[in-house]
Amino acid sequence: MLTSQLTRVPVLLALLATSTAVSAETTPSCTHCAEWNVSQEPFRIYGNTYYVGVHGLSSILITSPQGLVLIDGDLAESAPKIVANIRTLGFRIKDVKLILNTHVHYDHAGGIAELHRLSGAPVAASKYTARVLETGHLGPDDPQYGSLTPIHPVAHVRIIKDGETLHVGPLAVTAHFTPGHTPGGTTWTWQSCDQDHCLNMVYADSLSAVSADNFRFSSNTTYPHVIQDFEKSFATLNALPCDILLTPHPEVSDLWGRLARRDKGGDPNAFVDPTACRRLADTSRASLEKRVASEGGGADGH
Ligand SMILES: [Zn+2]
Repeated sequence: MLTSQLTRVPVLLALLATSTAVSAETTPSCTHCAEWNVSQEPFRIYGNTYYVGVHGLSSILITSPQGLVLIDGDLAESAPKIVANIRTLGFRIKDVKLILNTHVHYDHAGGIAELHRLSGAPVAASKYTARVLETGHLGPDDPQYGSLTPIHPVAHVRIIKDGETLHVGPLAVTAHFTPGHTPGGTTWTWQSCDQDHCLNMVYADSLSAVSADNFRFSSNTTYPHVIQDFEKSFATLNALPCDILLTPHPEVSDLWGRLARRDKGGDPNAFVDPTACRRLADTSRASLEKRVASEGGGADGH
């Protein structure tokens, strides 16, 4: 979850949500869910890479004749819309052979259990993300622990290593661990080609320093190396070959502005920006520094 308004939810409300329903629709904290879950017509981003998410939350489909890779399931109630979008593009949910995730908050992982059930595809994730996917609950080391709704659990998740490349037919998608927003956050990279022109695609996980009310990035006992993790992630993003940047919250990488410039503004290369990853690393580092400065040495961070 990115939006700062969503970070100030009393723990009590989250606990009430835990005990009643998993659906984000019924979650008091989810003031943005209806807005996020607005239907979005799917479209080709570049080559064999497509946007199949809802309007406010990205879900990325990478295609090949030997099977599809799907990254992120958005909200629980987004799953049927993602399935419909895949069908609209002429593909089938049954042809999804691998499901991946950027980070395991309910707005990016909430639909994964249903997408896994419908496709039969294995789910692969970092060790931390796998544990949350399997239990449905965040660990106390998540900066937003206690303030977010749980997700529907996934029975068996394959644990992957940092730098590991996963294959489906000719597709090769590489995991780059970018922790900080969550301990298991993962950025995914692959190449997509149009004719023989291939570009480096980066689906960069959220790098925003957002937390529950009682968490301090500058000093805490539940995720003490969070700052070092963020620094590592900024360095990783900075160094990645990056032609087209995508983000779990599409507006963070100006997806809608770039789509309009490409499809209505006559700029066929509007998605391409080799500086985009470095700029995201810079703005994310600046906002972390601001957050840490606001925590000061005082009693509370805000
Ligand atoms: Zn999040």
